[in-house]
Amino acid sequence: MDDCIFCKIVSGELPSHKIYEDSDILVFLDINPVNPGHTMVIPKKHYNDLLDIPTELAAKCVEVTKKVAPAVMKAADVDAFHFDINNGAGAGQIIFHTHFHIQPRSKEDGLKLWLGTPTDQDKLAKMAESIKKEL
Ligand code: 5GP
Ligand code: ZN
Repeated sequence: MDDCIFCKIVSGELPSHKIYEDSDILVFLDINPVNPGHTMVIPKKHYNDLLDIPTELAAKCVEVTKKVAPAVMKAADVDAFHFDINNGAGAGQIIFHTHFHIQPRSKEDGLKLWLGTPTDQDKLAKMAESIKKEL
């Protein structure tokens, strides 16, 4: 896609710190890391988000992540990571080229996750029914 930053990184029009690539996947460092070693796993072909990317290609991103993430943890000297996707603007997605984050974590890094809110079984049951109806 012409105006997509990640397509430009794939084509080499924009620079990046590449870690791994094969015919379908590119892995490079996030320019604005939440922690050192924050890494992006992307398909070389443009898709908008998780719902758009073919399942086999998303699975390949997971396969590559399982290869790369142990190296990221070693290099960043941590023992954990988030593997996540911000799907849609409401979830904070700013680059609309499917990408998975590998975010190195440790208990000592001081980052705080958002908190869950306790709810009751009735609300959970109603929500489960609403979602199942939409499937
Ligand atoms: P999103 O919120 O869309 O899931 O995250 C997009 C990520 O892409 C952000 O973490 C941001 O730091 C990263 N990013 C944005 N522009 C560039 C860029 O030009 N190069 C690299 N390497 N990462 C970028
Ligand atoms: Zn793109």
